[in-house]
Parts: sequence; structure tokens; C-alpha cells
Amino acid sequence: MPQRTEPPVGDSTRRPVGDSPGSARLPLGVFGGTFDPVHLGHLRLAEEARESLGLAGVLWIPAGTPPHRDLPRAPADRRLEMVRLAIAGNPGFALDASEAFDVRPGFTVPTLERLRREHGPARSLVLLLGMDAFRGLATWHRWRELFELAHLAVAGRPGYAVGEAALPPDLAVAVRGRLTGDAGALGRSPCGAVVPFPMTPLDISATQIRRRLEFGQGCRYLVPESVREYIQTHGLYHQEPHGR
Ligand code: ATP
Repeated sequence: MPQRTEPPVGDSTRRPVGDSPGSARLPLGVFGGTFDPVHLGHLRLAEEARESLGLAGVLWIPAGTPPHRDLPRAPADRRLEMVRLAIAGNPGFALDASEAFDVRPGFTVPTLERLRREHGPARSLVLLLGMDAFRGLATWHRWRELFELAHLAVAGRPGYAVGEAALPPDLAVAVRGRLTGDAGALGRSPCGAVVPFPMTPLDISATQIRRRLEFGQGCRYLVPESVREYIQTHGLYHQEPHGR
């Protein structure tokens, strides 16, 4: 039986984003990740998507138990707090903490089904992904259903080629006829398009940051200063995990 640990008291982190009268009909960005820790690559991806794709805002959804990888190094409450600190002050960003404490694997289709229920069938939802994540899409649980639930917007990432030729065959077939460079497509229907978008290339990864910290190096200018201070205060990532 799956268990769910409860978020700490006062963790009512969800606030509407893009629900002001003028923006309610604009597409809503959805950005899931482990954020272990959140870094400037994540922030630029979300901000550049919001600007260049004309999104009402971006909902950040930290994963509790990511299905395709090792358990996160930092516990959910720490990762959540880092995202909260990182996005503070940006009115176009909001935190959705509802999955961070879930110990079941955090698959994306159920997340989008939940958001569909919350926002209705007509709302345009745009799942934001880096190119590395997009290229692995055909390994995701119920991945073909993603296109019936949301649009996909794919950011370039250093080291990962863009374009159909770089995709695994199943995925290349699935996205044929969906790929478009027209961001306006995101506002014309609730789901189904795949829109690559350029972002300032930032060769930063959470893996690299964790490794630096394990080796006693710093992460200044790779993460927001508030996140760096939080990592330091709580001694995160400084040692190899034991017994995990
Ligand atoms: P890790 O190194 O632990 O795998 P990560 O840095 O890739 O972590 P995730 O939380 O796994 O971060 O990523 C969330 C999303 O952000 C994914 O879609 C990923 O492709 C994207 N992403 C992360 N870093 C970048 C970056 N520097 N440029 C573009 N996209 C990125």
C-alpha cells in the first residue's frame, strides 16, 4: 500500500499562477523535476519559456519519488524549500508542493490528469522539458497519453542535439505532425503540440552541483544565492549518502 508522508505544517505552497483576469486563458506552463538542488539552468528554462511561449505562468512541481532515477539526495522538504527560495519574487512562478511528499513513483501522466481536473478540459497546459528529458520520453509510463493531456515545450540543453533525427524511432514517429516552431499553437488548443524553444545555453546540472559539494567545492553562481546559503546552513550534499 503506497504511503504518503505529510508536508510540514504551514506548507500551503500552492497559489494560483496566471489566474488574473487577463492571463487566465493563456497557456499554463508545468515544470516538474527533482530539483536536487534547483539551479540557474532550471530558472532560465522556466523564465525563457514563460517569455518566449507567452505563458500565463509556470507551476513548479518537485517530484517526491522520481521514477527514472536514484532517490533524491536531499529530502523533499529541503528540495521544496530550495525551490520556494529560488522562485520567490517572480510573480510568474508558483510552487505546487502536492507531489513532493508522495513516496509512490511520480509519473507525469497522473500529474497532468490532476491538473486537467483542476483547470478544465479547455485550458492549454504546456509541459516544460529539457532536451535530455524529452529524448527519454518513450521510456516514461503511459507516455503516449502525454500528448492528449498537454503540449510539450522542449528547451535545448548543451550536449543534446535538437531535431527529429536525434530522437529514438518511437518518439520520432509519435511527434511527427506535432512538431512546430509556432508558439501560437500553444494557445489554439489545450494539448498535442510539441514546440522546441531556444534558451540561453547553461551547462549546469544538479549532478554536477552535488558532486562539487561532495568534493568540498562551492556552488556560488550556479544556484541563486538564497539557495546556496540554504545548502550551506543545512549542510546539504556534503557527504556521500550512507546506507541509501
Ligand atoms: P540531475 O543532474 O540530478 O539529473 P538536472 O539538473 O537534470 O538533475 P532535473 O531536476 O532532473 O535537473 O531536471 C528538471 C528538468 O529541467 C528536466 O526537464 C531537465 O531536462 C531540465 N534541465 C535541467 N537543467 C537544465 C539545463 N541546464 N538546461 C536545460 N534544461 C535543463
